[in-house]
Amino acid sequence: MGAASDRFQDIREGVRALCAEFPDSYFRKIDEARGYPDAFVDALTKAGWLAALIPQEYGGSGLGLAEASVIMEEINRCGGNSGACHGQMYNMGTLLRHGSEAQKRQFLPAIATGALRLQSMGVTEPTTGTDTTKLKTTAQKKGDRYVVNGQKVWISRVQHSDLMILLARTTPFGEVKRKSDGMSIFIVDLHQAIGHGLTVQPIANMVNHETNELFFDGLEIPAENLIGEEGKGFRYILDGLNAERTLIAAECIGDGYWFIDRAAKYANERIVFDRPIGKNQGVQFPLAESYIEIEAANLMRFHACELFDANLPCGAEANMAKYLAAKASWEAANVCLQTYGGFGFASEYDVERKFRETRLYQVAPISTNLILSYIAEHVLGLPRSF
Ligand SMILES: Cc1cc2nc3c(=O)[nH]c(=O)nc-3n(C[C@H](O)[C@H](O)[C@H](O)COP(=O)(O)OP(=O)(O)OC[C@H]3O[C@@H](n4cnc5c(N)ncnc54)[C@H](O)[C@@H]3O)c2cc1C
Repeated sequence: MGAASDRFQDIREGVRALCAEFPDSYFRKIDEARGYPDAFVDALTKAGWLAALIPQEYGGSGLGLAEASVIMEEINRCGGNSGACHGQMYNMGTLLRHGSEAQKRQFLPAIATGALRLQSMGVTEPTTGTDTTKLKTTAQKKGDRYVVNGQKVWISRVQHSDLMILLARTTPFGEVKRKSDGMSIFIVDLHQAIGHGLTVQPIANMVNHETNELFFDGLEIPAENLIGEEGKGFRYILDGLNAERTLIAAECIGDGYWFIDRAAKYANERIVFDRPIGKNQGVQFPLAESYIEIEAANLMRFHACELFDANLPCGAEANMAKYLAAKASWEAANVCLQTYGGFGFASEYDVERKFRETRLYQVAPISTNLILSYIAEHVLGLPRSF
């Protein structure tokens, strides 16, 4: 594949070697059973790949976003789904950037070894959706505790995590100057919380993605679990989104290459009308077009990584990378399915599984419309639409 995709060969080879122990049949069985790839995630954790972004002084490998994104890309490119574990790579960023030294020492080394899993982040709510600043979950300070009441939806990997980052309102909406003020983030010990004010209700969904509805009814969180300053949580969460979007762009790039690799191979092998279907330009051109789009998205992904790793503003580039990559992977999924014809629908080829998996990234963690509105307002200077 192209030049942009050949960078970081040592990391690629390391992740590919690990992924080779978990073939398509492994992920297919997990998907069919609606299970969780425990063995795969354990192996990734033990090899240190999920601790790439944790600085060395806290037990991680202190790599940049570019390297981390290559790890995620390779998992998807090898046929797996980083969605089962990507939270462990980036959720700790909030703690790293805004946590106290004591919190960092308490949590980061254990997250780096995998002794503690910080796979979950609870932001989205059922009645407010993308309009995050209107969220209704409250955390009220009572002595040395915060008491949480409310509801979250689509909170992923809670059943495979020890900790969760939670965004809740600490000052009522009507009492803040700016709507983004008055929210705070907490680190929640899920083992202590579940059954003691937190109820977890799994959501059956189109992808094999462990995600849940959460109900908070008087959950008590020790005040020392507040991250950073009270009231600034929304800004802290926003800080982490550029990394999340760029990493997910890389996952989409990995999916895109997977679809095109598989489709090109199939198009060379499948004989209909006494010739490989790939001999027909009607089959070739969509593959070529899709490949071009993946390569272009890949350049934007590395551009976003370079800016992020140089501590430069990268909001527009991270959003554009996510937009282009999610679109390119979805197009590649469609082209791949079409190339396989009827066999694309058979589970044994894995196309339909990856097709479902990559579709998610048009919607989560941010929908395409919201990216377009970000670019319209923040890059083009158009009026706010909401
Ligand atoms: C499988 C899965 C896993 C998830 N994991 C997590 C998680 O771990 N933690 C978490 O906090 N959240 C998670 N989410 C939530 C995800 O971030 C949201 O679904 C996403 O941000 C969209 O919010 P919503 O579903 O409420 O859609 P809504 O806000 O209801 O929007 C619905 C549609 O309307 C469009 N829309 C809304 N307002 C506008 C507007 N002003 N202009 C144009 N279009 C608009 C949106 O683009 C979208 O297409 C997950 C979601 C899924 C499906």
